[in-house]
Amino acid sequence: MHDPHAGAAWSPETLAVSAGRPPRIPDAPVNPPVQLTSTFVASTEPGARGYARFANPTWEALEEVLALLEDARPGDGGGARAFASGMAAVSAVVEQVPVGGLVVAPEGAYNTTLGLLDHLEASGRLRQRRVPTADTAAVVDALAGASPGDLLWLESPTNPLLEVADLPALCAAARAAGVRTAVDNTFATPLVQQPLVLGADVVVHSVTKYLAGHSDVVLGAVVTRDADLLAALGRHRTLTGSIPGPFEAWLALRGVRTLHLRVQRSQASAAELARRLEGHPAVTHVRHPSLPADPGHARAAAQMRGFGSVLSVQVRGGAAGAAAVQDATRLWLPATSLGGVESLVERRRRHPLEPAVVPEDLLRLSVGVEDVEDLWADLSQALDAALDPSLDPSLDPSPDRVPSAVAAREHGRQQG
Ligand SMILES: *Cc1c(COP(=O)(O)O)cnc(C)c1O
Repeated sequence: MHDPHAGAAWSPETLAVSAGRPPRIPDAPVNPPVQLTSTFVASTEPGARGYARFANPTWEALEEVLALLEDARPGDGGGARAFASGMAAVSAVVEQVPVGGLVVAPEGAYNTTLGLLDHLEASGRLRQRRVPTADTAAVVDALAGASPGDLLWLESPTNPLLEVADLPALCAAARAAGVRTAVDNTFATPLVQQPLVLGADVVVHSVTKYLAGHSDVVLGAVVTRDADLLAALGRHRTLTGSIPGPFEAWLALRGVRTLHLRVQRSQASAAELARRLEGHPAVTHVRHPSLPADPGHARAAAQMRGFGSVLSVQVRGGAAGAAAVQDATRLWLPATSLGGVESLVERRRRHPLEPAVVPEDLLRLSVGVEDVEDLWADLSQALDAALDPSLDPSLDPSPDRVPSAVAAREHGRQQG
């Protein structure tokens, strides 16, 4: 892909709009076309694509933008690789760990990433140490005795507890131990946090979420400055066939064009809602790093540009109270996933795979780009449902019990 921007000093907000475009020649289209082809006419030129599992120009346009947004400059050997889903990207990075190698991972993080690590540990593929990654000393302890090729897996802020890891300190500790650090940057987006700049070796995204941003695509990506690692991840994609569809890549690139506008709006609304939620009588705990009392506040202020657009709350009435709130919203959609223009609410423990560190009464809120006053009006009226005296946990010997009607409604199997 033609790249007039590599090394240019444009801000990320500008690169989101200007990078990944076709060459500026008279009468050329301003957007890369969707190239729907399974093969390419044979060529002896170096770098020829050959077959569509190896390369596709529509992926390359998206990859160019993502590499620049994460500050992995292609001129220095860095780059991005798009994958069929966020989990395909996670899996590609984890597969770089040698057989029997160690992965140090969070106690609480995206449930399917943890599920993958558990699966690979159970099959003897790798070993794991789970640590509370907001506790820097605990992570450093867990890295003791690690070998080159082992992996520190971080997510910050975490899904759905919004815990903030000290990325500069942890990446430096891992590097000193000869261990690679991967950061899942899905929640923050590269506009709010750039893990490679903070010392990470590789960044992973569920492009499905903020980057694509419209809840109409499933896609993933990895970004690194390490040319050898980039080549290994590309090889993994070709060998396993975990490639994106060209149309999905095109939709994701279209979404990235407005990433900065969406993120500015949604994270401002998230901070405002977090502040108001703290004062609602049905809310017992609000988690968002924007709040001065949040344990991750100072760290997030130091390493992020803003605090992200996801927050979590715990409400009165246990699991039943949380389910009642979710059912009583009219504007907020009860659905898994996050990062789209529309606001979503979800009781996370409805997923059987959700880690036990996540409270039963926790609702995760993905704040979209609607009017913040409308979001608040709908949320506050729905929260009143949790004040219903019939949900009073003091009247119920097991407050976390999920009544069967609630359980029947919450039959979701998958999670985003
Ligand atoms: C959704 C999500 C993933 C997985 O991405 P998919 O595109 O659904 O495969 C990974 N990490 C985080 C933090 C997520 O929220």
